Amino acid sequence: MVILDGKALSNKIKEELKKENEILKEQGLVPGLAVILVGEDPASQTYVNSKEKACQAIGIYSQKITLPKQTSQQELLETIEKLNNDEKIHGILVQLPLPKHIDSAKVIEAIRPDKDVDGFHEYNVGKLVTGNETFVPCTPLGVMKILEEYGINPTGLDACVVGRSNIVGKPMMNLLLNAGATVTITHSKTKDLKAHTLQADLLVVGIGKPNFITADMVKDGAIVIDVGINRLANGKLTGDVDFEGVSKKASFITPVPGGVGPMTIAMLLQNTVTSAKRTHK
Ligand code: NAP
Repeated sequence: MVILDGKALSNKIKEELKKENEILKEQGLVPGLAVILVGEDPASQTYVNSKEKACQAIGIYSQKITLPKQTSQQELLETIEKLNNDEKIHGILVQLPLPKHIDSAKVIEAIRPDKDVDGFHEYNVGKLVTGNETFVPCTPLGVMKILEEYGINPTGLDACVVGRSNIVGKPMMNLLLNAGATVTITHSKTKDLKAHTLQADLLVVGIGKPNFITADMVKDGAIVIDVGINRLANGKLTGDVDFEGVSKKASFITPVPGGVGPMTIAMLLQNTVTSAKRTHK
């Protein structure tokens, strides 16, 4: 069994991006990322701060915009519009979830698709579905990078994705399908989840339920990717897969923490640098 080390891979990618940014800087180009945070949600604050730190560490200009919880939708849209027209900014990210009085879909649609480094805009979603090059949501993109790094080719594999969110499950399904896997996507209404997971050569789980996938649900020798991040009452982080039991059956498995999690930020940085390079041409 091989543990898929997302932390090591993310560090390697960040090192490469840092070098690339040094070269770009000599050519007068500094990639820029704007992150907008509305409200004071502590988890969101932590995410935004770690994104800002990651940018600074590799030479990306980062602009953190913190707006009060009562900010109106119109004010937020105006902030995005300014960033859409700001030449220093190549990527715009709005930290989700937004306060209830704001329509997240409208906000995402306001981001210029060529600055949508999260890949959430319908234009980019459509491109992914049709198999065209585009900004891809960072977490599933990170999963594909891990597979590539370890020489795992999804072509012809029976893949099962558990979870159908717009951020994880659906883009994951499309990426695996585009890569030639036969994909089954499952969710909370799936009649017999185990019947599907047991068939999977490649199992990707993102549901937000600690240790939900147990060894009896996994095929011998399966490749298991755990996207889940759950904080237990004792403060420990755990995934959606029971690592202890499942790692005895899997051929490859991601740990939590240290698997998919660190890859998400690395992919955000990569998308931002890619966006900057596109404008430079
Ligand atoms: P989400 O929007 O809440 O979606 C959860 C999905 O899981 C839904 O599609 C839901 O089905 C499905 N689900 C829930 N219970 C299920 C069950 N018992 N059996 C089968 N499917 C079930 O969550 P998300 O944003 O996709 O996040 C999922 C997990 O990934 C969370 O732990 C989150 O923290 C983690 N995550 C990690 C990263 C990272 O950087 N590694 C990034 C994003 C998310 P329905 O659609 O039918 O409700």
